[in-house]
Amino acid sequence: MDKIFNYINGKLVEPQSGKYIDNLNPAVGKSYSLIPDSDKEDVEVAVKAAARAFPSWSILSTEERMRIMLKVADLIDRDVDKLAVAESIDNGKTVKLARSLDIPRASANIRFYATAAMHFATDAHVNEGDSVNYTTRMPIGVAGCISPWNLPLYLFTWKIAPALAAGCTVIAKPSELTPMTAFLFSQLCIEAGLPAGVLNVVHGLGGKAGQSIVEHPQITAISFTGGTVTGRKIAATSAPMFKKLSLELGGKNPNIIFADCDFEKTIKNSLRSSFTNQGEICLCGSRILVERMLFDKFVNEFVIRAKELKVGDPRDESTDLGALVSEAHLNKVLGYVRLAREEGGKILTGGNQIRLDGRLSSGYYMEPTVIVGLNENCRTNQEEIFGPVVTIMPFDSEEEAIQLANSTAYGLSATIWTENLRRAHRVSHQVKSGIIWVNCWLHRDLRTPFGGMKLSGVGREGGWEALRFFTEAKNVCVKF
Ligand code: NDP
Repeated sequence: MDKIFNYINGKLVEPQSGKYIDNLNPAVGKSYSLIPDSDKEDVEVAVKAAARAFPSWSILSTEERMRIMLKVADLIDRDVDKLAVAESIDNGKTVKLARSLDIPRASANIRFYATAAMHFATDAHVNEGDSVNYTTRMPIGVAGCISPWNLPLYLFTWKIAPALAAGCTVIAKPSELTPMTAFLFSQLCIEAGLPAGVLNVVHGLGGKAGQSIVEHPQITAISFTGGTVTGRKIAATSAPMFKKLSLELGGKNPNIIFADCDFEKTIKNSLRSSFTNQGEICLCGSRILVERMLFDKFVNEFVIRAKELKVGDPRDESTDLGALVSEAHLNKVLGYVRLAREEGGKILTGGNQIRLDGRLSSGYYMEPTVIVGLNENCRTNQEEIFGPVVTIMPFDSEEEAIQLANSTAYGLSATIWTENLRRAHRVSHQVKSGIIWVNCWLHRDLRTPFGGMKLSGVGREGGWEALRFFTEAKNVCVKF
């Protein structure tokens, strides 16, 4: 069985305890590799290595840091097929999606931040005839980066790239459910010549390895992407230590559809925003709100097309939805379908686990599910489900659409479909979400701020925001 190792001080090493955890392939429901069950001791060794590496990495020229990071990005591109297959086996997503989205985005993240750091400027403020203020931005030190299982390498690199580019050294922990591509990535870092200790990857359980990272006094900043409940725990641990915190958390995103939309584009992209990656993307539009005069037409067509989506072998190029990430997660999602029924919802299609044949018979597959007949306040419409399940609700006016869109405790993203330019702006301004897409979905520009309002998080990633997060501002005032 394949064994994954920690990456500490430039080397692939066993966990200090010698203990390992099973790593499952969700498409077949079986263990296929072992991952380190790391604990406090491993984090301690990693932090020592990162602290030792910090002085030289932080003063290395930005150009030299860029050169090494670009090499890592090139190696990801070289290994795109291998990494895409590994991501699919680990997560259950289709190889097709991993090859077209996850892995290319991972190398893009690294290239983006390696080169962005070359253009990262600071301010100077001159008081004529009196003084000059200039602001410096120094790397914050050893940073902790903790990432989730849904877009494993994509979100792992989205954090460590700005941290490394800014001159920080890093202790990173991928989700224990999807550690493989972070492990392969550590091999690429060695090949690229990343100096020892600059990046350290500690694998293991959130409550043990993750918590030890958050608690460590020498780790001065935590960048976390994951669930809101975990985010709250991390905030509670970090706040008394005054650590810098970036929290990218859950969502319950509205997909607002007006009757004047381009119908074909709206349907096509709503299927994407509902079911891409089995609905396991924090940005998926899980609450579809449709203007009443379009409601029946939209629902009928959406259900027809949802039924046509193929759930199957993630290796198969014709598969639209692969397996959910774990049995526990599948049961959680199925539990929400039961809840929706209890709350009076009508399941128009889906709602069930799918049992595939042969080697896939123990995998965690589920039908794309469409639910109507629920009000906005029920738990199904308030809590994050994070699977291939959407609800559809009608609205009668722009005001009602905005009220429904804002009716949850989350505020990550929203999508608006309308051909009316003024309405698009009006609604965008009133929806309380950090990211709004008009007539598109998941159309990312890495320069833009990325993150959520309300329970969806604290702070922003993306563009200069992340470079600012991993640096500490200092103002120097010089009197003439
Ligand atoms: P979790 O919150 O369960 O876990 C996220 C990461 O935190 C994992 O690496 C996990 O490790 C680790 N972790 C768990 N407990 C602790 C702890 N006490 N201290 C430190 N680390 C800990 O989220 P999921 O992995 O289940 O990811 C799904 C969630 O992520 C969804 O809510 C989704 O909305 C959100 N998400 C948000 C995004 C955004 O940008 N806003 C983007 C993508 C996902 P382990 O897995 O080993 O337990």
